[in-house]
Amino acid sequence: MKQSMMLIPTLREVPSDAEIKSHQLLLRAGFIRQNTSGVYSYLPLAKKVLQKIEQIVREEMEQAGAVELLMPALQQAELWQESGRWYTYGSELMRLKDRHEREFALGATHEEVITSLVKDEIKSYKRLPLALYQIQTKFRDEKRPRFGLLRGREFIMKDAYSFHASQESLDEMYDKMYQAYSNVFARCGLDFRAVIADSGAMGGKDTHEFMVLSEVGEDTIAYSNESTYAANIEMAPVLATYEKSDEAVVKMEKVETVDIKSIEEVSTFLNVSKTKCLKSLLFKVDDKYVLVVLRGDHEVNDIKLKNYFEASSVELATADETKEVLKCSIGSLGPIGMKSDKVEIIADQAVEFIVNGVAGANEENYHFTGVNPGRDFSVNEYIDLRFIQEGDASPDGKGTIVFAKGIEVGHVFKLGTRYSESMNATYLDANGRMQPMIMGCYGIGVSRTLAAVAEQFNDENGLLWPANLSPFDAHVIPINAKKGDQKELADRIYTLLKENKYSALYDDRDERPGVKFADSDLIGLPVRITIGKKANEGIVELKIRKTGETLEVHFENLIETISTFVVK
Ligand code: ATP
Ligand code: MG
Repeated sequence: MKQSMMLIPTLREVPSDAEIKSHQLLLRAGFIRQNTSGVYSYLPLAKKVLQKIEQIVREEMEQAGAVELLMPALQQAELWQESGRWYTYGSELMRLKDRHEREFALGATHEEVITSLVKDEIKSYKRLPLALYQIQTKFRDEKRPRFGLLRGREFIMKDAYSFHASQESLDEMYDKMYQAYSNVFARCGLDFRAVIADSGAMGGKDTHEFMVLSEVGEDTIAYSNESTYAANIEMAPVLATYEKSDEAVVKMEKVETVDIKSIEEVSTFLNVSKTKCLKSLLFKVDDKYVLVVLRGDHEVNDIKLKNYFEASSVELATADETKEVLKCSIGSLGPIGMKSDKVEIIADQAVEFIVNGVAGANEENYHFTGVNPGRDFSVNEYIDLRFIQEGDASPDGKGTIVFAKGIEVGHVFKLGTRYSESMNATYLDANGRMQPMIMGCYGIGVSRTLAAVAEQFNDENGLLWPANLSPFDAHVIPINAKKGDQKELADRIYTLLKENKYSALYDDRDERPGVKFADSDLIGLPVRITIGKKANEGIVELKIRKTGETLEVHFENLIETISTFVVK
């Protein structure tokens, strides 16, 4: 493609509102432009990369046995009302009305649409399993759209859904999808991990997220330094490897602690380690109050709390609520003397091992010292309630936990019958009995994957596309296109590349060499072919973008040489 015919609006300056490398470079190299917050146009270069990612996704989906379809983005509210998500999805769902005041949503995801489609068309176990996917624009009114394509309000997703007559059949498909996802991200050259995840609002059980390891990731992955164990930090269970100290148990005493509230303050003021402080937090779990007790150096994991109570919402009680229910301030809470008719008390399993601890006295300006669980207070249950920390034992018993940041590029879920039951998607089994279909769903953020690749492959001069995702294979640059011999050789090379099935971007613009080279580095095609002074001898310069290596090559040997650098 001639560059003069393209739309590649490069920028020399780093856009001030772009915080991370991929966002800055995709803007600067002329791949994307923002229309409004979280909404982007994919310019021609980005579109080419998207097509390559989509091609990989299509090949892997086919391999897993899924077939492509395309569903509407405009979805009638009734479908979402049937599943119940119209009322629970919240403000992330973009809602609108038509001219007759009928309500609609712009598809944030397609469980409802596909379940309704399949339930009308599939009636017998003989037609199961069935796996369908689409690649399509999704809409989510994200609270904080940011980092360019990483978190948009309009973005491209591949979403697949599978329908089964047995759990084994779902398990089989899940494994195939898991493999397909691993292949997709490996083919994109990404450094990723498949991590155990939380099924959250989707209502499923088994689920993995595919995370690209990156400092700019919003998720924290806890992984073992010795095994393949990796989980979203939200999900990693903590093994109870605690031990009680053998110090002599002392009497409990009430001490004055004026204006001492946080664990930090208590620990300094009373000169005790945070590991001996009891942290007590009042939570509102659906509509009841629960006092959660943890060790002072631990953080509560509200997903574990939510799962334990099978609750739909958990929130810290406000200062006013705390005052109203327990007649004291947040900083004075403690389990001692707490009336169980007011709140249920549960504690993290580490608390049980505290000897001679410190706890709030449920009274302004006082704490108890010499607190011993069991003797001085009891709880309903000791369970795993905290976030795993670096240095903890790996949950699989092999090695210790290390943290890394990750960008979630894909997600596979076993949905079970969440949607088929609420939407009545049933089939007749071999005995003629009606059964709800068992479902799985599988998403890849296609536009987010593009950004993740850009985030992982760049240097100080610009992007560094892996050969199989690059918008073009080679950048052809005559230093001075007005010089007849240079133009002629450049034209011949452009044709030669095409004949050999290499795609090329041909910089035919009337620009200074410095501008052409800077743009070329920004765009980041794997090889640059510069046609300059030696054009009359048929010699050009080949530059490998990734390594900066340059070599002189004769026209006759060009294709052979390129084939060693651009392995497709
Ligand atoms: P996140 O936790 O990042 O919000 P999610 O759990 O809401 O993601 P899913 O509903 O599982 O995401 O969607 C499937 C895939 O779509 C994700 O793995 C991610 O790659 C992509 N995705 C989700 N939200 C966005 C977004 N706002 N912008 C770009 N891609 C997104
Ligand atoms: Mg989300």
